Amino acid sequence: MNINHHLDEATLFSYVAGSLSQGMALVVASHISICDSCRERVFETEAIGGALLNEMVSDNSSDSSASVKVDETALEQVLACLDEEEPTISLDSSLSDGEPDACSPGNTGEVPAPLSDYIGGSLDAVQWKRLSPGFYYFDVFKEQRGICRLLKVAPGKSILPHGHHGNELTLLLRGSYADEVGRFAQGDVADLDDQIEHQPLVDGNEDCICLVATDSPLRFTTLLGKVIQPITRF
Ligand SMILES: [Zn+2]
Repeated sequence: MNINHHLDEATLFSYVAGSLSQGMALVVASHISICDSCRERVFETEAIGGALLNEMVSDNSSDSSASVKVDETALEQVLACLDEEEPTISLDSSLSDGEPDACSPGNTGEVPAPLSDYIGGSLDAVQWKRLSPGFYYFDVFKEQRGICRLLKVAPGKSILPHGHHGNELTLLLRGSYADEVGRFAQGDVADLDDQIEHQPLVDGNEDCICLVATDSPLRFTTLLGKVIQPITRF
């Protein structure tokens, strides 16, 4: 699999710290289960976090009178992480298999192991719901503000133009699309923040299926998008 688009540093850090929403953590876990590069970066980020923690502990124990310049925000973040429960989708569980779960029934190799726990091993066996001609969805789960869902869009169709109030993570599972950011194909992840406005167009000759997670409602930029937003629940 030739992966060209990866997770950004802020997302990786939040994932390691366990501060992502459940849906976004599922997208990250799914991507790193098939991307050697991002998996290595997760391990490096974990090592940096561990080293920072060790340094803080040893500094405090060796010389309590020393003036240690540790950024208070960083300290609060580390302490907050220690207090938090383990994320539902943890690094260990996401990496336990390393490869799409070839043992699960009907696995076609397109469904990363962390996702197969939720939908099974075949994209063709998903109970798709029709949104409009050429658009289908399946909600993996809903969250307080965001959503985690599978989208299936027919060739030549495009998503209505929109921006974001928060972050949007998209993992391509089948097919491809192009937008203002670039072209995305199987294995690629689009890691977008609130600065990006885009209109993805399915540019291949097969359905584009992707796993999308948001942590805030989208910001549609056309009247039609705003009108149908309550229906799409994006
Ligand atoms: Zn990657």
